Amino acid sequence: MSKNVLITGATSGIGEATVRAFAKEGANLILTGRRVERLEALKEELQATYPNQKVWTFALDVTDMAMVKDVCQAILKSVGQVHVLVNNAGLALGLTAYQDYEEWDMLTMLDTNVKGLMMVTRQILPSMVAANDGHIINMGSTAGAAVYSATKAAVKTFSDGLRIDTIATDIKVTTIQPGIVETDFSQVRFHGDKDKAAKVYQGLEALQAQDIADAVLYVTKQPRRVQISDMTIMANQQATGFTIHRGNK
Ligand code: NDP
Repeated sequence: MSKNVLITGATSGIGEATVRAFAKEGANLILTGRRVERLEALKEELQATYPNQKVWTFALDVTDMAMVKDVCQAILKSVGQVHVLVNNAGLALGLTAYQDYEEWDMLTMLDTNVKGLMMVTRQILPSMVAANDGHIINMGSTAGAAVYSATKAAVKTFSDGLRIDTIATDIKVTTIQPGIVETDFSQVRFHGDKDKAAKVYQGLEALQAQDIADAVLYVTKQPRRVQISDMTIMANQQATGFTIHRGNK
């Protein structure tokens, strides 16, 4: 694979695992995220392991719309064509009932999961259309509290709309909808409370970031005629986003 793969939120969890999965396949990687030291450490490791592949890093906060525009233009200038865009950057903040919700948490989720994802896509998609080639993979979810669910529903319907808008091209659009994945996600959700975060994964065998990275890779390895529109991946002891059986671990 000599594809250029752009991943948002490459600094941890599913994004980082996706970087490693594509690296193994021979892809060139464009790593983005806010934690620059993590991007640089990952780049160093990848370059040592895969010296024949290219790795670029770009500091990017997807909630900063001016930065998204500047960085995406810089990426296109440095890299040329982006073949695969993995819109992975995202987060949940808080888990209280909506009537008690922190406004900052609500707005940050909307800015990151919806506006950020759409703005990155808006910057990269025209070059894909011009090349009549590209695959956009958007990270959705199976469930969550009111605001998080709403942002991920937006991701799903946005992907469905993009598929319509690019129907006359060879571009593919996929929504990946993971169930419960053991990453830093819950620590972020609970504002750094590690004990509270650990309880989320107690008593069940949660999905691992690698499982979702494998799914992302899989959807990109299909023949030209095959477009996987959605893929939902649950933990074995999970029936819906919130229906989880604990105790068989
Ligand atoms: P992590 O917290 O491990 O990773 C989140 C990533 O998003 C980090 O790399 C972080 O990078 C990046 N990110 C967050 N905010 C911003 C921002 N403003 N600008 C740029 N990057 C940002 O969690 P996961 O790996 O679990 O989450 C990845 C995706 O998967 C998210 O979209 C999440 O909603 C989704 N998901 C996760 C599930 C789970 O159970 N874990 C289930 C379903 C979906 P940095 O902080 O360096 O900017």
